[in-house]
Amino acid sequence: MVASLYNKEEEQKAIWVFLERQNESLKPVSLELLSKGRELADQMGWNLSGLLLGGHVAELVPDAFLYGADDVILFEHPLLELFTVDTYSYAVYQAIDVYKPSVCLFGATADGRDLAGRLAVRLRTGLNADCTDLRMAKDSGVLICEVSGFGGGILALIEMESHRPQMATVRPGVFLTSPVDTINPEQVIRFPVEIPDEIVRTSVIERVVGQGVDLTTAPVLVAGGRGMEDRFDLLEELARLLDGDYGATRPPVDDGYIERERQIGQTGVVCRPDVAITCGISGAFHFVVGIQDAGTIIAINSDPEAPIFEYADYCIVGDVNEIVPSLINALRKAEGNEEPGHRSPSITPVV
Ligand SMILES: Cc1cc2nc3c(=O)[nH]c(=O)nc-3n(C[C@H](O)[C@H](O)[C@H](O)COP(=O)(O)OP(=O)(O)OC[C@H]3O[C@@H](n4cnc5c(N)ncnc54)[C@H](O)[C@@H]3O)c2cc1C
Repeated sequence: MVASLYNKEEEQKAIWVFLERQNESLKPVSLELLSKGRELADQMGWNLSGLLLGGHVAELVPDAFLYGADDVILFEHPLLELFTVDTYSYAVYQAIDVYKPSVCLFGATADGRDLAGRLAVRLRTGLNADCTDLRMAKDSGVLICEVSGFGGGILALIEMESHRPQMATVRPGVFLTSPVDTINPEQVIRFPVEIPDEIVRTSVIERVVGQGVDLTTAPVLVAGGRGMEDRFDLLEELARLLDGDYGATRPPVDDGYIERERQIGQTGVVCRPDVAITCGISGAFHFVVGIQDAGTIIAINSDPEAPIFEYADYCIVGDVNEIVPSLINALRKAEGNEEPGHRSPSITPVV
């Protein structure tokens, strides 16, 4: 096996979290990783550092302390204003080479995955992707990464005995955020970055900002499956009336009825809404992992034997083409905006 660039004997007892920016704040997944990192660092008596890169980003540093960082390693350079894997991997590699942290955590986002993969190859270490849980072995300082495999049929625990750093990506929504009660004495380490021209092989020609769908923050999530066919306009309206957002299982995404960023589940996003309403969804494990931590799950399915009912708090056996429009109309009525001539079907909840 190829040796990593440094090993366990040389490591610094520290956990690093790559902090991603979104507009003028830190991304929720970065705060989630800081919160989990704080828990692990406390357990081990280790240091927790946030890595913040950008053009002028020092104003975001206090958020990292609020979510538990002991210090922030700050990289400011005009070429770091926008993410490119060339410049970011170059800068972070320099710092890892100097400080030799034991653990490096990244969000399983487009940028986090890109950066973590590039660094793992350069550092000749392993990368545990899409972890569903992280813990530390107290005696050995080994990071234990839980990942699901074989289509969700098994959960595997992966450890790196000697390769360092121990790297992992975690998808948004897997961990909770918890601001700390007491902020540690704030320490900012400015890492001097020189980025040679020759390492920059990509340049940003145009920046197109999408609508910025973030299902992980919706208090009410309406999810549609194959049973909705192409009627996602109904779910959008239902979500709007409930002040929530809407998403889907994989088949409607694959069929092009809804954008991929709205896919919920193992290969989509993991959400923890107060209320999840599933419409025409069978309840495959790959989907359920994306909503199983919802406060309340309401499932609508025409098949009384559908597996989704095993996870639901409220089970409605019926046709989504009748029930969803009825719900919309009832909510519109409450708003004083009922569709004329609409009749509600009788629905029998089975709890
Ligand atoms: C490696 C891997 C990763 C995957 N990742 C994901 C993932 O991230 N997210 C995900 O969702 N899937 C994922 N899948 C796919 C997953 O296994 C299921 O195939 C998928 O979740 C099924 O979606 P569904 O419930 O919409 O469709 P189906 O299983 O076809 O279920 C449709 C349901 O709709 C009901 N129905 C039909 N008509 C009506 C009606 N008129 N009224 C009410 N109910 C109706 C039916 O009774 C049925 O229960 C993954 C699969 C693999 C192999």
